[in-house]
Amino acid sequence: MRIGILSGHHMLDLMKNPEDIKVHTPYGDIVLRVSTLGKHEVFFVQRHGEFANLPPHRVNHLGNIHALAVSHVSNVFSVGTVGSMQKTIRPGDFVIPHDFIDATKSRPVTFFDDQRVHVDMTEPFCPSLRELMVKTCRNLKDVTVQDHGVYLVTEGPRLETAAEIRLYSKVADIVGMTLAPEVILAREKGMCFASLCLVCNMAAGLQQRLKANEITAIYKKKEPLISNILRLTIQSLDEKQPCPCPSDISKATL
Ligand SMILES: [Zn+2]
Repeated sequence: MRIGILSGHHMLDLMKNPEDIKVHTPYGDIVLRVSTLGKHEVFFVQRHGEFANLPPHRVNHLGNIHALAVSHVSNVFSVGTVGSMQKTIRPGDFVIPHDFIDATKSRPVTFFDDQRVHVDMTEPFCPSLRELMVKTCRNLKDVTVQDHGVYLVTEGPRLETAAEIRLYSKVADIVGMTLAPEVILAREKGMCFASLCLVCNMAAGLQQRLKANEITAIYKKKEPLISNILRLTIQSLDEKQPCPCPSDISKATL
């Protein structure tokens, strides 16, 4: 099976003897780092571009997801860092979201600009992939995981104001800048998608002022654990996971 991973970090310890391939897409060239993991082929995308330099509001989500889709990837794992808006979710915890709110402002959000397609979003994340990842986390020592949560996606690149967080915290649990439109586009391609979110800070107003290097420091500390969660989850994947994801898109066209 072909598995996609989207991450803001290169995760070099996850990929053994990888090969870089360049995929031409209508949205620009995308570099995929390809390797094997057990019986599966893994296609890794540095979400922020080959040189990891694109800020969140300029990430080429269309290109990234298109490149995975034309490589016949069926399951996608997305890794991201987030802020917590709930006191029960602390820095260093993992959250595997079950839903999201898209509060972005200026990103292209669909592959269907010339067609009336309305993808069902009742369950935006693949239930099978989420369950596998939760199970993996629960079997690992040193992992605190929240098996559900609502991820609110902001436009960035600035962080949120304290007033925004007071508002958002009434409807969501974690906040970040990258999940949308990634998850939306993956569903449009009929791919199964789940996200592993590492909480790196409490959001504005819930801790002292935020420093960007604080986020990096927590991520670096947890990176081996993230690789391990992905490795074990992918190795536990069977050929056929029962789930509605591929059929949802076939019901979406008017
Ligand atoms: Zn699925």
